[in-house]
Amino acid sequence: MFSFKLDDELESFRHEVRSLAEKEFAPRAAYWDEHEEYPEANKNLLAELGYLGMLVPEAYGGSGLSLIHGVVFLEELARVCFNTALVGQLYLNGPAKALAELGTEEQKQRILPGVVKGDYLIAISISEPGAGSAVTDLSTNIRKEGDDYILNGTKCFTTAGIEATHSMVFARFGDSKGARGIGAVLVEKGMEGFTTGKPERKMGGCGVKEAELHFDNVRIPKENIIVEATPYSNEGFKRLMSSFGPERVGNAGMCVGISQGAYETALAYSETRKQFGRPIAEFQGIQWKIADMATQLHAARLMVYRAATNLKNGFPDPHDCAMAKLYSNEMAQRITNEALQIHGHYGYCRDYPLERMVRDARGFSLGGGTPEILRNTIAAQCYGRTFNQRRS
Ligand SMILES: Cc1cc2nc3c(=O)[nH]c(=O)nc-3n(C[C@H](O)[C@H](O)[C@H](O)COP(=O)(O)OP(=O)(O)OC[C@H]3O[C@@H](n4cnc5c(N)ncnc54)[C@H](O)[C@@H]3O)c2cc1C
Repeated sequence: MFSFKLDDELESFRHEVRSLAEKEFAPRAAYWDEHEEYPEANKNLLAELGYLGMLVPEAYGGSGLSLIHGVVFLEELARVCFNTALVGQLYLNGPAKALAELGTEEQKQRILPGVVKGDYLIAISISEPGAGSAVTDLSTNIRKEGDDYILNGTKCFTTAGIEATHSMVFARFGDSKGARGIGAVLVEKGMEGFTTGKPERKMGGCGVKEAELHFDNVRIPKENIIVEATPYSNEGFKRLMSSFGPERVGNAGMCVGISQGAYETALAYSETRKQFGRPIAEFQGIQWKIADMATQLHAARLMVYRAATNLKNGFPDPHDCAMAKLYSNEMAQRITNEALQIHGHYGYCRDYPLERMVRDARGFSLGGGTPEILRNTIAAQCYGRTFNQRRS
């Protein structure tokens, strides 16, 4: 039965991660943003302390912890340093988790131990210049040649595409259309014909950039096929989509974390900032903002924890994930904005963390499925058009 609260072990885990994050990551949170620099030192520390392999099964050198551990971990990192949380998501709930679920035994043995040590970093590359929300319009193509496969195409917006040692690339096998024929392959840094474009300069999450990936007749050995597809079936695509649940729950967990950080900062500021001869916390207009923030944060956290614990065959329920991500994405934008408002002009200044939090939170509503697409998914389920089940 769902208990509505974390057990003692998870609370003590949260405490441990919070102490680490406040001591090691909070002091330089502004630095990675200001310098637009990948937080390599933080990644190395997380690897050294064994956190990068938290969700990797023990058979491949990880700790085999549950999805809820990953969520609490990302929440605590995002509370103080969003860029470090983004790195955590790549290693925990994102592409590494997808490879652990979908990869062949040989791929897992070859790659996951390197992920645990922080030597390897896997990126996930789906979006293309002409295929964003419409994933099934992708045109990156793979065809068989002898024992190998040949990959051609261009991807965009791949998070850490430049730093990654391996990229899980969605591609179309043969001349199919729509979801049929979509599978995934592993492209390794240094493969002939594989190049990356310049990193995208963006509004938030500036320490972990997206980039274009170009494939010009890249020869892929058959050992690097993750999900093979045929032009006649959408089974490969369905398997790939099923691996999105943990990524969405991680994204929503980071929204809860960044909102928690903004809420705490605003609460503390409102108690010390005086106007009209008294702390602004004494004005009902400010108290109501704080009350709304606390309520929305509470609701989002419950939705995310429910999504992270209501698992079937190891995967979260897609309906739970879509609703948790949608609500948390929009909540994070509202809360970071309100927290900035409570700070007045200081919130708008670079010397305070609020304007960075507003910018960082914005990207959540684009990556991993926009709110519009999530609403489409939820509505389709409500009407019984997906997952063979109507929700009341
Ligand atoms: C920070 C960040 C990290 C990312 N990381 C990755 C990554 O690692 N790998 C990767 O492959 N991609 C990544 N992406 C890309 C992301 O997945 C896409 O931005 C997203 O899928 C939307 O695609 P698009 O930007 O092309 O927008 P479009 O699909 O062109 O959409 C434009 C607008 O139209 C709306 N829209 C589109 N279709 C519909 C519809 N049917 N109904 C209603 N509204 C609709 C969208 O919601 C959006 O508001 C990342 C994006 C961001 C911002």
